[in-house]
This record gives sequence, C-alpha cells and structure tokens, in this order.
Amino acid sequence: MSDTDLAALQQEFTTALAAAKDAASAERVKSDWLGRTGKLRSLTEQLGKLPPDQKKARGKAINDLKLACEAAAEARLRELSASGPKAAPADVIDVTLPGARPRLGRRHPIYATMDEMRAIFAKLGFEAAYGPEIETAYYNFVSLNIPLDHPAAEPFDTWYLDDPDAATRPYRFLLRSHTSPVQMHVMEGRKPPIRVVVPGKVFRTDPADASHLPVFHQMEGLMVEENVTFADLKGVLSIAMKELFGAKTETRFRPSFFPFTEPSAEVDVSCLLCGGGGCPACKGSGWIEVLGCGMVHPRVLEYAKIDPEKYSGFAFGMGVERIAMLKLGVPDIRHFIRSHPLFLRQW
Ligand SMILES: [Zn+2]
Repeated sequence: MSDTDLAALQQEFTTALAAAKDAASAERVKSDWLGRTGKLRSLTEQLGKLPPDQKKARGKAINDLKLACEAAAEARLRELSASGPKAAPADVIDVTLPGARPRLGRRHPIYATMDEMRAIFAKLGFEAAYGPEIETAYYNFVSLNIPLDHPAAEPFDTWYLDDPDAATRPYRFLLRSHTSPVQMHVMEGRKPPIRVVVPGKVFRTDPADASHLPVFHQMEGLMVEENVTFADLKGVLSIAMKELFGAKTETRFRPSFFPFTEPSAEVDVSCLLCGGGGCPACKGSGWIEVLGCGMVHPRVLEYAKIDPEKYSGFAFGMGVERIAMLKLGVPDIRHFIRSHPLFLRQW
C-alpha cells in the first residue's frame, strides 16, 4: 500500500466519524478502526512483508495516521456529548413567555429641577457656565470680598484639602462652598456684557438635618453690563419666579447682607400652598424665602479687573434642593439622597 492509500483511509475514517449522529455510533466507528481487530491494525501487520529499507518510513506514516484518527475520534466524541439530548432544554426558548422588562431609569428630581431653572434663565438671555468643585481660598473667599479671618466667612465654612499655612492661605485648596467662585472665573475670562447662570454642586460643613446637607446644589446668576440697576435685578427675578412657581407668584425683596453684594436682599415668593393668605407651611406669613441677591460689590468687580465706574451688575444665588422641595412638596431635604425607588419614581 502506498502513502496515497493512507490518505484515502484517513478520509474514509473522517467521513464515517462525521456520519455518527450520537456518542454510541462514534464509539463504534472508533473501535472498528482503532480497536484490537480494527482496520488500521492490519496495516501494521503488513509491515513485516516490506523490504527493510522501506519499513521505517512506512511505520512512521502508519503511526501518524493512527494518532490523527485517535485525535479526531476524541474530538467528535466531545462534540457529541456537549450537544447531546441532555443539553437540549437550555436551548429551548418559550416564545409565549413575557419578556424580562428592564426598569427604566429617570432623571433625579434635583437635576430635573436644575435643568428647568437653567431653561428659564436661558429664555432671559443667561447662558450656563461651569467651574471646578475644587477651588482655592482666593476664589472661594478673598476675591468675593470675604476676608479669610472675618466672621462673614463662617457661613461658607468648608473642607480644606491641604494643611493650614498662614503665608499661603489664599492659595489653599478647598471644596467650594458656593458657586460664586465661577462668577470670578467668568469675569476674568471675558469682558462685559456678561449674563450667566452657574448650576453646580457645593460643599459645607453643615451636619445633615431636615433642611441642610453637607453636599447640595446651587444655581448662581450674574449679569454685568453698563447701567445695570436694582430694577433689572427685580425684573429678572420676578419673571423667573413666575416661570418657576406659577404665573400668580408674587415676589418680595427684603434688605439683607452678603459680603459680595451691596445692596443685598433676600427674596421671598408668595406661599405656594395658601397663595399669601397664611398657613402652617409659611408660618402664617404668606411668604416663603427662596434666594439671596444683590448688586455686585464694586470691590468684587475690581478683583475681576472690571471698572466699577463703567460697569455694574447684579448676582443671585439659590439652593436647587430648596426650590425642588417647594415645587415638589418634599418636607425633608434628606429624601433626595435616600434615593428610595418609591420616592424617586413619583416624578
Ligand atoms: Zn402659606
């Protein structure tokens, strides 16, 4: 027999193996060919009749064929046992069963409120600006006319990210305690006219209670142009509050103090529940405080290298959580971070 015959035998074996439809038939093919009385066995027996110079090469060719056939038989057996009748049920799909429906996520009420606020101010010509949550003491305090060792800094107390060092204090890193540092970045980066709102996360050392969280959100507003007056401030905020809380909402400005504005005011809106008549939610006053505002302090403009003789501006800032609590009727600010699915799915 020649080597060509060996190749033909291997082909024959491969065909027989492929024709075996289950493990038992494959075992039979293997035994018919490779067993003690198998077809390949007789090849070895013929070796003895060959001349000595051909024996070695022929013996090796027969052995290679045997090894190849054994490997093929093992592979086919593994294949058949993996896809045997036992494995079948896992592949069956019952198309009549209802599908697994993934639960859809939704925007967190704080971010939904922040988007709504940003859209209202966009209609009034304010673009959104963003800044870093890690600031220096210079931007968080000094440039906003808050001296570092002054009691005015106390309400804005925050976490510092490096060691205290008196000489470099204005350059200490901290987590910003209001969005106002972004005002300064914006004013440093461009010339008036400026109209921006700054939505973002802020940090304070306040312990969590029904109306405080150590991490919350603010939206700051800044307008700097020639001849901006307190009347512009009142106009913009009155319109914005009507958009935010409803067309019947009245606005009231009360004198207040902030280091970065002069004059400064707190803004109240007519109570959303009683419409101004007085109820427990507004403690009988008919008004609810929503934000702080004022005319940008000339010293703040000077820090930003904007001439306070030529330009004036106003700024305002409000807590997004506070607005969301009023709009959605949420009694405790901590509900927003408890993230209970039933609570969050209401909106
Ligand atoms: Zn009320």
